[in-house]
Amino acid sequence: MQVSAFLLLCLATAAISEVLVTRISSDKLKDVRLPMNVLPERYRLQLLPILEEGNFTTQGEMELDLLVKSKTDQIVLHSVNLEIDESSVSLSLSKIIPKRDVIFVKKRDRFIPKGRSTPRKIEEERYKDEPELTKLIYDSAKETATFVFDSPLKMGERYTLRLAFTGSLPADLKGFYRSSFLDRNGNKRWLAVTQFEATDARRAFPCFDEPAMKATFDITLGRKESMSALTNMPKIRTEPMLDRPGWVWDVFERSVPMSTYLVAFFVSDFEFKEAETYTRETAVIESQEEMRSADEVDSTDPPTTDLPLSEEPPAPQPGPVIRIWARSDAMNQTELAATSTPAMLSFLEKYFGIEYPLPKLDLVGLPDFAAGAMENWGLITYRERALLYDPSSSVARDRLYVQKVVAHELAHQWFGNLVTMKWWTDLWLNEGFATYVQGLAINHVEPNWKYLDYFTLEIQDVLGLDSLESSHPISAEVVHPDQITELFDAISYKKGAAIIRMMNFFLGESSFRGGVTNYLKDKKYGNAEQDDLWKALTDQAHADGTLPDDIDVKSIMDSWTLKKGYPVVTVTRNYKDGSASLSQKRFLLNPDSKSIEFKISAPVTEAPKSRKKNRFAEARKISQSPPPQSNKFELRTTEVRSNDEETHYSWWVPITATGGSTADFNATNTVLWLNPEEDAATLKHKVEASQWLILNIQRSGFYRVNYDDKNWQMLINQLRSDHKRIHPVNRAQLIDDSFSLAASGQLPYTLPLELSRYLVNERDTVPIASAVKEWGKLSGRFKHTADYGLFKKAYAKLFLPASKSFGLDRKEEETGLEGVARVTVSNIMCSLDLPTCTGPAIQLFKKWMTTDDPDSENPIKADISGSLYCAALRHGGEEEWEFLKDRLAKVNTATQRDVMLSSLGCTYHPWLLRRYINAAFVENPLRSKWGIRKQDWRAIAGSVASNPVGRNILVTFAKERWDDVHKFFGSTLTPLRLFQTAVSSFSTEAEVTEVSTHFLLSNDKSSQTEFQN
Ligand SMILES: [Zn+2]
Repeated sequence: MQVSAFLLLCLATAAISEVLVTRISSDKLKDVRLPMNVLPERYRLQLLPILEEGNFTTQGEMELDLLVKSKTDQIVLHSVNLEIDESSVSLSLSKIIPKRDVIFVKKRDRFIPKGRSTPRKIEEERYKDEPELTKLIYDSAKETATFVFDSPLKMGERYTLRLAFTGSLPADLKGFYRSSFLDRNGNKRWLAVTQFEATDARRAFPCFDEPAMKATFDITLGRKESMSALTNMPKIRTEPMLDRPGWVWDVFERSVPMSTYLVAFFVSDFEFKEAETYTRETAVIESQEEMRSADEVDSTDPPTTDLPLSEEPPAPQPGPVIRIWARSDAMNQTELAATSTPAMLSFLEKYFGIEYPLPKLDLVGLPDFAAGAMENWGLITYRERALLYDPSSSVARDRLYVQKVVAHELAHQWFGNLVTMKWWTDLWLNEGFATYVQGLAINHVEPNWKYLDYFTLEIQDVLGLDSLESSHPISAEVVHPDQITELFDAISYKKGAAIIRMMNFFLGESSFRGGVTNYLKDKKYGNAEQDDLWKALTDQAHADGTLPDDIDVKSIMDSWTLKKGYPVVTVTRNYKDGSASLSQKRFLLNPDSKSIEFKISAPVTEAPKSRKKNRFAEARKISQSPPPQSNKFELRTTEVRSNDEETHYSWWVPITATGGSTADFNATNTVLWLNPEEDAATLKHKVEASQWLILNIQRSGFYRVNYDDKNWQMLINQLRSDHKRIHPVNRAQLIDDSFSLAASGQLPYTLPLELSRYLVNERDTVPIASAVKEWGKLSGRFKHTADYGLFKKAYAKLFLPASKSFGLDRKEEETGLEGVARVTVSNIMCSLDLPTCTGPAIQLFKKWMTTDDPDSENPIKADISGSLYCAALRHGGEEEWEFLKDRLAKVNTATQRDVMLSSLGCTYHPWLLRRYINAAFVENPLRSKWGIRKQDWRAIAGSVASNPVGRNILVTFAKERWDDVHKFFGSTLTPLRLFQTAVSSFSTEAEVTEVSTHFLLSNDKSSQTEFQN
């Protein structure tokens, strides 16, 4: 390991001149974990955020109760951009009766110790030999502050560390940050809010910022009287701030034991809508009234003698207080979340068999937020469009998105918050589970959506990503915060969810849920690794007899989590005896081709020790370059080797199958396991020679299937004669698998094209979406060729019948997913510039431009507005563009705002596009005038890049203004992704090479990554 560190030593001034303050700045290190010699038990934290122009700061005071696990003279805390006042630091030995495992009972809104009426505490005794601070060392690379004392802390003793600090409220969307928005009257309003996951709690207060270092939190927040403050727990009381007239302190209840990344604060002038909570049937679920805590209660706790304990069986209890918070102008959009949240939370309590343990749950919609949403315990934060839904718009996709994100964060309250990963390596378990369970919760509140079928489209997406050599194992060893940030990707979320779903199928509902509940109960308020879950599931499945005794869940799942990729199962039928021979091999989309790698080189300088493969080390190995000295931006065209360590690429594959005249698409039980050690296996599923066979029922397994020619033909014939005999999810799978196999050279393209001809009869959302995705990819490749006209005709022919039967406008009886199908098909008509779209688009847009109040009257229905605005702008000029841009500045609905942002990139006028890009990606006064926010870059870049006129303008801009873009975003990751978006629509290698050469020659930027969720 190479560390080029320099030390800056300076003597602290004033009162405590003997304390040495040291600052270390070094290259990013591998060794960034905290020592385990001191552990936190309880934080008492008081924070005063000041939201005043010219003074965006925080002042904090903290008392931190610690347990010393081994003798040391140092306490190491995480701390970034905080100034700790050395004169305030003190450490005292707390002579508290050790009360490990105190049992607490929840009564009303607070926790009191069971079996005694008043909390006990022996006075803290200050000893003469109490350690004194001698040195405070800031290490900017490790993001730590180390407190060095003149005498050692004693093993097994408890101490209280007291300190005061100041910090800032930056506008960078991480840590404790400030944000502003304009209200209806054009007044600027300020708010302060947190985003801590994964490693940014350390920017708000000094702390042990690792997920396994759980503690309780007693939080007090200062605010102006005119604002409100929220944190994870309910407020106990408000007290006036004696030295600041017009300001008050809000004192909150002590939290349950939790990780620092789940702590949250929110100070704003938002309003709330209180949801109607549910009633708990206490017999159904385990009561969470027994709280385990290693915490001690002190004399500042409220007296508890007035709450005698009752031995009677508990009566049905109301659920937690649920509130949806938004800026006052958006309060009309809170109804959906207010209705769904209690229904979903109640469902999840029953599903997991454990009550949601907090007395309240706040959900906040934020105008400016880096992630989609964040599951802070009891105080969930959302980007506005992930929480708020405008009922007048009736856009099915927006409604679904809100339901998905609300459900996802609720699922985290158990998977992630109650039981937390020991380290970020197992992040996928949190994210995969939340992504899977969100579907079950949506299915509960919107059963007619058939969301569980719809979810298979997301599996399809990640099958695409995971078929690239640049993919990574979902369980990846990570150390540095930059690496942790990179884990928040589709592999962790969607592949994680897909393999958990697969497990649900092969274990069966009862064993799966039984195992999960046992795991959660066993590990609640603690931390766990994937092996803990595998063990709980194996025990349950063996007890139930749902998994053969000689197979355990760990063996199966390790084959899916510790390596990247997945198999294609090849089926060769024996038409004489009705059996079929099955074999597996890794599916790679581009076995031989070149791929472009974008990467920020990892700071890891040693090979990983574990058998888990490290994707960063792996990327280095492929590129054959020396280990990087520091973070670097690199872009290169690489020969990807297809048989890279091929021997390890085999899996435990659960085979499900059905076929022919008696096909049963509910037969999702595993009929055969493909074993990674065996080359082939025989499926004895009897299907007549004249009937088709189909594998992977309802896409229950994470793999593709290829068949012999004869079977493919029988499947195609079935689709064309009566496609409804095959389950919609399997129809989508046949489309997706056949196109992917053709793209990888394992099938001729004629096969998926032949298969597609049945689409003239298809009306179901899932197969339509699957086909549109594949045909959309083809469209991108044909767009710049002379044959595009022919291609357009063939594409349009497949979907014209569906377009006619759906129409443009929503029908009264239409379900959510039917709405998605209608909008998807009308999008095709618009993207192909067919008169069924462009006619109404131009006409309705003109009508809109002549209305008296275009910000409240719009003849274009919201659900198809994206396609119609885009078509109108493509066929229009400056006037149309300016009109829509003016609407953007005034729109009050986050989803319509996104539609407008995307549509403005549709114009074919180069100068307008360049003007738009200039306003969006570099410092520019037009930004605030037009109402463009930093977080909008993705929507804008995506739409400009997919515009045949826009993509070159975007690339040219990125080349010319790279330094400005980098400066504007303050990190490399966003400009990189911007550039990735720009080149993603390139269709010829020459174009890619031209651009990549430019970047190889001109860029060598140091970088820091931004938070991304
Ligand atoms: Zn999540």
